[in-house]
Amino acid sequence: MIRHQSLVEATSALPENGLVESRLAPSNAVYDAIIPAGAPWIYQIERGQHLRIVDLEGNQAADTLFYNAHDYEDRYDAQATIREQANIYLTTGSELMSSKGRVLLTIVADTCGRHDTLGGACATESNQVRYAIDKKHMHACRQSFVKAVIGWGNGFTKRDITHNINFFMNVPVTPEGGLTFEDGVSAPGKYVELRAEIDVIAVISNCPQLNNPCNAYNPTPVRVLIWDAMD
Ligand SMILES: [Zn+2]
Repeated sequence: MIRHQSLVEATSALPENGLVESRLAPSNAVYDAIIPAGAPWIYQIERGQHLRIVDLEGNQAADTLFYNAHDYEDRYDAQATIREQANIYLTTGSELMSSKGRVLLTIVADTCGRHDTLGGACATESNQVRYAIDKKHMHACRQSFVKAVIGWGNGFTKRDITHNINFFMNVPVTPEGGLTFEDGVSAPGKYVELRAEIDVIAVISNCPQLNNPCNAYNPTPVRVLIWDAMD
């Protein structure tokens, strides 16, 4: 309960820009890894654990999916998340909703201030449509997601890949209602930290995209850390 009480206090004192620093020290993390530029990552986060994703060099999109670890059909739902919080951007205080109405994780700290969940993940098909026919064979997030879930096994398949979050990615909605991919608002060392509200599986594609500014045209590594529940 101490955890939840402290969240209530933190939420009531949230700044409008969502910028909140974590008190957790990397030296106390139970897991600490680097996802190389362009690589996929998949891991199970237990209820109560905190997951931090660090944009090591700045302007790197971390395309992310979350699943209920015990029911892959119960998965991150961007529409439900946007509807429930009445905001199209994600930051501290955002509760990431599942397709079956659960809160999967809550963003508890954020030094970037804005994350996209509208722009989707890059795919070989979208690379062709957006950029050029000869971009078809370029490495894309959707292929990284497929590689990660197939490697995990346990019945996970390509069909389980759905609409994602783009941590550290700046996709502002224009006054006319359009979406634009802009240069990032992130910077070296910025991070987002989430507390798992149930056991979840996190799948990250450290975006290999070279054709738009989501990675400043230069994909770089991100760091992932996990801390155990604090009570
Ligand atoms: Zn991508």
